[in-house]
Amino acid sequence: MTPSIFSIQHFCLQDGPGIRSMIFFKGCPLRCTWCQNPESWYAGPEVAFKSHLCIGCNLCMDNCPEQAIFRPGHRDPSRCTRCFSCVDHCPSRALEGFGKSYSIASIRDILRPEYPFYRDSGGGITFSGGEPSLYMNFIERLSGVLKEDGISITLETCGDFDPGIFYKRKKMPIGVIDDMPEPTNLCRPGFLKDVDLVLFDIKLVDDLRHRQFCGKGNTRIQTNLSNLATLAKIGGGPRVWPRMPVIPNITDTVDNLSGWADYLLKSGVFYLTLVPYHNLGSLKRIWLNITDGPVIPALKTEELEKTVQILTDYGISCFSPGEEDWQLSDR
Ligand code: SF4
Ligand code: SF4
Repeated sequence: MTPSIFSIQHFCLQDGPGIRSMIFFKGCPLRCTWCQNPESWYAGPEVAFKSHLCIGCNLCMDNCPEQAIFRPGHRDPSRCTRCFSCVDHCPSRALEGFGKSYSIASIRDILRPEYPFYRDSGGGITFSGGEPSLYMNFIERLSGVLKEDGISITLETCGDFDPGIFYKRKKMPIGVIDDMPEPTNLCRPGFLKDVDLVLFDIKLVDDLRHRQFCGKGNTRIQTNLSNLATLAKIGGGPRVWPRMPVIPNITDTVDNLSGWADYLLKSGVFYLTLVPYHNLGSLKRIWLNITDGPVIPALKTEELEKTVQILTDYGISCFSPGEEDWQLSDR
């Protein structure tokens, strides 16, 4: 599957060591109610409409080769080919296109001028999304090319991919892997072959609550986290570093924090990045015509402090994004 990429950002400091460029892949198997990047959900290209910027010039309608726009901001999706001609002709940036295909060579050309910054700062490239593991073949090939250039690679994942890829005998049915796997049974998945660090997003430890707030259960996610941690421990895979969004009354409950602390410690992981919740996704949902999620109150400082305290009491070292002591995950 050719991936759609919705953003390439440079000089990022919060998603892995040093100075990094981030590649955001479009498409995600989860639908977290607090998601701040809903433009990452759908895997294909999308056009967003910001009505407050529209000046009513109708240039979008005049320049749509499919006559798909019947009124500014209103398209017939069955006719729209996502060619972005309307976006290119909109004088006021009321239209924004999300999602573009890039060849591996073109990504390399975009990133190459930044190489000195990665090298000088101990940084590199971070694949994020959306969910980059939806494009395992592409990630494997792109990582191989970047690795040839001596670039360090981090991959951020929601963890919802097939656990069978850790086993030489593929497609092991879910549910078979109940306990910690024997390390000798595991192999490093191909798409992580050249990845140095995995930022593993965790949310709700309880399967039902995960289903309720993220749209899917978390059995695969937990299995993949423990598999990765086991591989890292025996030197057979990338370092793994969990990250948790702190969402008031959802992920910061005592039950959830203690459940994750137990799970992480059992997996041999005693560090975690806490990502404070900001309500930045709401406007994007309106622009993309996505049904808005529930109103989640802003995170208070004392709620974050309480979260840190609970996890610290369990023996988990907590960090803010960009302030991690990455050496803790060294084998
Ligand atoms: S993306 Fe292309 S086809 Fe779709 S509405 Fe815009 S101009 Fe028309
Ligand atoms: S081209 Fe842009 S500003 Fe003009 S009508 Fe279309 S959306 Fe509105």
